[in-house]
Amino acid sequence: MAKESLSPHSKRTAQGHRISVLVPRPFSGPLDYRAVEPLPPGTLVRVPLGRQEIVGCVWDDQRSKIPVDLRPPQDSRIVAFEKLRFIKEAITSVPPLPEDLRQFVEWVAAYGLSAPGMVLAIALRVPAAAGGVKPTLGWVRCARAVPAGLRITPSRQKVLDVVSEDTPLTSFMIAERSGASTAVIRGLINAGVLEERVVTVQASSPQPDPDYAPPSLSTIQAEAADVLVEGVKERAFNVTLLEGVTGSGKTEVYFEAVAECLRQGRQVLVLLPEIVLTAQWTERFTRRFGVRPAVWHSELGQKARRETWCAVADGRQRVVVGARSSLFLPFANLGLVVVDEEHESTYKQEEGVLYHGRDMAIVRARMVGGAVILVSATPSMETLVNAQQGRYRHALLEDRHGGARLPDISLIDMKQSGPERGLFLSPLLCETIEARMAAGEQSMLFLNRRGYAPLTLCRACGHRIQCPHCSAWLVEHRARRMMACHHCEYTQPLVVNCPSCGAEDSLVPVGPGVERIREEAQARFPQARILSMASDTLTSPAAMEDAVQKISSGAVDIIIGTQVVAKGWHFPELTLVGVVDADLGLGGGDLRAAERTMQLLHQVAGRAGRGSKPGLVMLQSYVGDHPVMQALLANDFITFMEQEAAQRRPSFWPPYGRLAAVIVSAPKERQAEALARQIAVRAPMGDGVQVLGPAPAPLALLRGRYRFRLLLRTRRAIALQPLLRRWLSGVPLKDGAKIDVDIDPISFM
Ligand code: ADP
Ligand code: ZN
Repeated sequence: MAKESLSPHSKRTAQGHRISVLVPRPFSGPLDYRAVEPLPPGTLVRVPLGRQEIVGCVWDDQRSKIPVDLRPPQDSRIVAFEKLRFIKEAITSVPPLPEDLRQFVEWVAAYGLSAPGMVLAIALRVPAAAGGVKPTLGWVRCARAVPAGLRITPSRQKVLDVVSEDTPLTSFMIAERSGASTAVIRGLINAGVLEERVVTVQASSPQPDPDYAPPSLSTIQAEAADVLVEGVKERAFNVTLLEGVTGSGKTEVYFEAVAECLRQGRQVLVLLPEIVLTAQWTERFTRRFGVRPAVWHSELGQKARRETWCAVADGRQRVVVGARSSLFLPFANLGLVVVDEEHESTYKQEEGVLYHGRDMAIVRARMVGGAVILVSATPSMETLVNAQQGRYRHALLEDRHGGARLPDISLIDMKQSGPERGLFLSPLLCETIEARMAAGEQSMLFLNRRGYAPLTLCRACGHRIQCPHCSAWLVEHRARRMMACHHCEYTQPLVVNCPSCGAEDSLVPVGPGVERIREEAQARFPQARILSMASDTLTSPAAMEDAVQKISSGAVDIIIGTQVVAKGWHFPELTLVGVVDADLGLGGGDLRAAERTMQLLHQVAGRAGRGSKPGLVMLQSYVGDHPVMQALLANDFITFMEQEAAQRRPSFWPPYGRLAAVIVSAPKERQAEALARQIAVRAPMGDGVQVLGPAPAPLALLRGRYRFRLLLRTRRAIALQPLLRRWLSGVPLKDGAKIDVDIDPISFM
C-alpha cells in the first residue's frame, strides 16, 4: 500500500491529483504537490517551496527505466494528501521537457550521485527564467513603401533583405542573419520601416542545406566519411571514433555525417571543448551548409537562450554547437552528437553537478537512438580502449590534407642550451623566431600559465606570497596590477615590501607566466607585432574572433598564449611553435599527467605548418628522455599509449577499472583528518575493490577548507555507485564537514 503511493506523477483522489514535481533543489527526489487537473509529465510548473515560488517539472517515475544498481534511493516520506500544497500554475509559454531529457537528467544524477533536482537545474536554466513570460516579439517589414528621405545604406539593405512582410523575426534573428548591428535594426524600427508582431512558434527559418557546398574529399577522407555516414544511416545508437592527425580534415569529414543526419530530418549537436572555438567553427559550418548553426553556451544572453531553447524543442533548430551544457537542451529528434577534441579534460564539469560531457554525450545518444562521433588527433585512453575492444567503430585519417606535412619536432635541452638566468627563451628558439619574422611567417609561443609569475619570493627572508584561503601561491598579474589565486577568487593589490619581514625591494618574481614571456619577447624583438591569447584576457567569443581575425590577416608576427592557442585553430602562415616549458604538466604525478601533456603538446604542435610551408616545433625541456618527449619527437602516439596502457592494466586503473574520488573537507584540519580516517575504517572491501588513502589532498587547503582524499578503485564489472552509497550514507556530518564524491575523476587536486 505504502509502495503504491510513492510518487506516481498523477494520482487521482477525491480532492484532485497528487502530482510529483522535481524542483531545482538538492533533495533526493521529487516532491508531491496537488492540482485540480492532471498534468502530463514534463510540464513546467510554478510551485510554492517554503516561502518561495519556483519553477519545477512534473516528474514521472524515471527510476524504473534506470538499471537497479544506479537507481537513487527512494525518498520514502509521504505527505498526507490534505497537507499537500497546490501547484500555482502550469507554464505554457515553453514546451514541456521531453521524456528522453527527463530520463537523461535522472541518469546523470544517479551516475554522479548528484541530487536529480540539481541536474534538472541545468536543463531548466532557460525555462525557469522564462516562466510566465510575455510572448516573444519580432519584426516584419511594413507593407507601406520606405519613407521618402530615409537613406538605405548597405547594412540597412541587408536587414531589409532578410526581413519578410509576413514572418516576424526577432531582432536577434535579424542581427544574426543579416550581420547588421542592433543599432542599424533599431534605426529601421524608429523610422517605421519595421513593424512589431508576435512571433509564433511556426516562424520558419532557413534550414541548413546538406548539399550547399560539399567539399571534394580525398579517397581516404571519403572512406572515413562513409563509416560515419553509415553510423547515422542506421538510425540506432552507435559510437565511432574519428581519429586523424591535426590538419587531416576531420571537420570536413564529420560534416558529411552531419549532412546525412540533416537529410534524415533529424537534429545534430556538436560539442566543442571551449566556447572560444565556436566562432571559427560557426564560420566553417556556414560555408559548408549555407546557414549559421545555433550556438549554446554560458555567455549567451537570456533572450538568445530562450529562442534557441524553444527552437530546439520544437525541432525548428536543426544544428546546435555548444559547450557540454547543450546536452541538456530539449531536442525534439536528435540523431547525431559529435564530440570534437573528445580527449579534452574541459569536458569534465568540475563544480556543482559533476559530469563528463563526452561520457554523458554517449548516454544521451543511447537514450534517443542516435549516433555519436568522437573526434581527436590524440584520443583519450578510454576511447582508444573502447575502439580496440570493438565497442566503438574506428575511422582513421593518417595524413594531413592536401599534401601539407606534419611539422618537424625538435627538442631544446634546457640544461645544455638554456637562456641566461632570469630569461626563459633559449638562444636557439630566439634565432628561429627571428628567421621566421625575416621570412614574413608567424611564430607561436606556448606556455600553459596565466599571469606574470607563479611565485613571488622574498630574497631577504625566503617568504613566499600565499593565498590566505588555499595552499597555493598567489600569481602575479602585472598587467592587471594584482596578485590572484588560481584556485579561488581571492585577489589583492601588488605588494611592495615583504609582508613577512618588511624588507624593501626584496620581492622577486620566480618563474614565468605568459605575461612575462611577452615582456621578454618584446624586449628581444622590439619590432615584432605580438598578440597575447590567454583565457583571462580573451574572455568573450567576440574578443577571440577579433584575435583570430588579426592573426589570419597577417597583422601579427608572434602569438603568445596559454592553452587556448593550442586548440583547433587553422593559421596557414604559422610555421613555428615554441613550447616554453614542455615539462609543465608532468609534475604532480596524477594518473593522466603524461597522457594529458602528450595530448596538449601534440595539439599545440599541430598548429604549425598547416598551409603550404613546412612547420617546426621546438620543445624546451629539462627532461628530454621522458617518454612524452620521446613520443613527440618520434611522432609515435600509439607506442606511447601502449606503454601507458601497460602501466594501468595490471592494477586496474581506468579505463581497465573504475575510479571514484572521495574528498573529505572541513573548516578545521583536525576535524577533516579525523573524519577521513573514520570513513577509511568503514571502507568497502572485497575482491576487486580497493580503497587508497586517506591522504592530504595536493590542494590541502581550498577556499578555507582542509581537504583529504580517498580513492575507491574497482574492477570494471563492479559498479561504484552502490558501494559508495552504502559506504558514505550513514556517515554523520557536523560542524560544516562535507564529503564530495567525484566519479571518474580527472583532477586529482
Ligand atoms: P583537422 O580538424 O583534422 O585538424 P581540418 O578539418 O581543420 O583538420 O582541415 C584542415 C584544413 O584543410 C582546413 O582548412 C580544411 O578546410 C582543409 N581541408 C580538409 N579537407 C579538405 C578537402 N577535402 N577539401 C578542401 N579543403 C579541405
Ligand atoms: Zn585561493
